[in-house]
Amino acid sequence: MADVRDRVLVLRHRPYREHDALLVGFGRMQGKFSAVARGVRSSRSHLAAGVQALTLTDMTIYRGRSTLYTVTAADAVRHYPRIRDNLERTARAAMLADMLDELWSEHDAAPEAFSLVTEAFSALDEGRPAEAVFLAAFWQLMRHAGFAPDLSRCSACGSPLDEEAEAGFRSASGPVCARCRVPGDEDLPQASRAWLRRADALTPDRLGTVVGSRTLMESLERQAKNYLLYHLGRMPRAFRFWEQVSGPLGEAGLEEDGR
Ligand SMILES: [Zn+2]
Repeated sequence: MADVRDRVLVLRHRPYREHDALLVGFGRMQGKFSAVARGVRSSRSHLAAGVQALTLTDMTIYRGRSTLYTVTAADAVRHYPRIRDNLERTARAAMLADMLDELWSEHDAAPEAFSLVTEAFSALDEGRPAEAVFLAAFWQLMRHAGFAPDLSRCSACGSPLDEEAEAGFRSASGPVCARCRVPGDEDLPQASRAWLRRADALTPDRLGTVVGSRTLMESLERQAKNYLLYHLGRMPRAFRFWEQVSGPLGEAGLEEDGR
């Protein structure tokens, strides 16, 4: 039982009882955790500003015997105002927060994933192209979570893809060569593979600096969503929200609409 101080990205915030809130945070050292913030819904709370969703906060949490921690101090470090005043930037930030929430277990420290997402939030807050920031961060997060495919090889037979023009993309496994492709696999042209390799090589402070044509970005986004849907078995809430406001994309949208 002890107080722990950590830099935390608040992933979720929801009302709890009359005056409290339940949070899901992702700490640089703690990884994902759940905590109650008492009294934050009263007007005099000194915690309120530091426990809002999509805020970076220096937080003190008390770890008692319960698995639910208690927030005892929360000093906001960044509120990301330019994310908040734009619907797409808000949605992209929430999608990355959902990925941290869904792909990591509680108390599973992942400082690289934490840094990546906080850098992505900074890039969105600076107004860099939101889709390019998101897609690069998406595949880098998948790599940190151990889910990313090897882009240089066919995921079915292992042969190098090199300059192969007819490669495909399979939601279950990633790239496939022309010989292994079956109906239902999407196109994965050389331009897409080149984009993915460049985006994967970016250091976190350079997220959003590799951009592409409208068609390329739409195809990359569809593949990313279908890949996540396959591996999680469902589409996280912020992904569904963004699809509703931006228009359905590919089979991922159709499956959700069919529920
Ligand atoms: Zn193959």
